[in-house]
Amino acid sequence: MIGLVLFLQITASPPLSVREGVTQTTVPVTISAGVRSVPADALMKALGGSVITAAHGRFSLSLPKTRIELIEGIPFARIDSVTYGLARAPDVRAGKLFLPWQVVSELLPQHGGGIFYDAAQGELRTFSAPVARRNPPPSVADRSDPGPAPAAERSTRPPGRRLVVIDAGHGGPDRGMSGPIGDTPWFVEKDITLAVSRKLAEALRGSGMEVLMTRTKDTLIALSDRGRIANRNRGDLFVSIHVNAPGSSNAAGARERGYETYFLAEAKTDDAKRVERMENEAVKFETGANAPKGDPLSFIITDMAQNEHLRESNDLAQTIQDGLKEIHPGPGRGVHQANFAVLRGSYMPAVLVEIGFGSNQLEASYLSNSFNQDRIARNISESVLAYLENYESRVGGVR
Ligand SMILES: [Zn+2]
Repeated sequence: MIGLVLFLQITASPPLSVREGVTQTTVPVTISAGVRSVPADALMKALGGSVITAAHGRFSLSLPKTRIELIEGIPFARIDSVTYGLARAPDVRAGKLFLPWQVVSELLPQHGGGIFYDAAQGELRTFSAPVARRNPPPSVADRSDPGPAPAAERSTRPPGRRLVVIDAGHGGPDRGMSGPIGDTPWFVEKDITLAVSRKLAEALRGSGMEVLMTRTKDTLIALSDRGRIANRNRGDLFVSIHVNAPGSSNAAGARERGYETYFLAEAKTDDAKRVERMENEAVKFETGANAPKGDPLSFIITDMAQNEHLRESNDLAQTIQDGLKEIHPGPGRGVHQANFAVLRGSYMPAVLVEIGFGSNQLEASYLSNSFNQDRIARNISESVLAYLENYESRVGGVR
């Protein structure tokens, strides 16, 4: 009896019409528990897109102008690193993904890029004409200098020009580490990361790269916003600059030296976990407007997107780490993986460079010297260029 009731609950409704110019396709619509849904594969086909199925009930709707990430049974969708709540979760029936009607009536018209929903006609229409860009320029990003056109308008970027996003760690009330240990602390991480990041930006621009800095002033940018800024502007690479400090042991902090480079993954060693905890602590400064929105899914979906870039991130980290060997007096401490909030949000190869231990007296002096900052910045710049050259030869030109 119950089975019969359930069976009767799923009924057909007039199909959805999808019109692209003169081509018209119909997509079946089912009604379950009084709510309409559409099969994702038929809808995507009609819109010139496709459904990509990943493990653990994850799906991507890949459309010419956008990509929507969904998880079976979870009422959220993620588009361009922003999570949207859905009144109803997508569900899978007989191996096929069904989309709640809200995807048709709201998500696609608002975020699909040139898709209009005519409720009166029950029709989705696509426009091939160029549409206004989906995302406003980042309001929190400080663009340094009048420089190149806003990177968000990617089409205006000359072909072959890559956008490197440079993230100066910490800022504003989040000072980062201070040191050195065993002296009156005079060294604040946020100042060094900004100085080196500016020099890195200058070096890359000098080599014809396009650069976006997540901050150019002493301001606090939420960790999650740093990646968001990079995504909105379609960054190709994300490089975050930091200064290292010890865990609880002062003796170790005074002793430790050297540079290390991280990419995003689960932290493997205790030392990597320590650096991960330290750099993720900045979240505590993020209140009010800076605080990340409640976003239960962001980690899962971001993780999924980031996995695509794991290998590239690892390569970039290795190239930077190897490069620093030429100029840095401290020992190379290798490439590590850790789960940094700041890297988590960026959908591109992303690394975090700890350019030295500010807790160590010798290294604190080294890092705060402008000439040395220049050398570090130019060295990282050369590594970024070498990495991109290598990357382009592997993938065959610009995306
Ligand atoms: Zn830091």
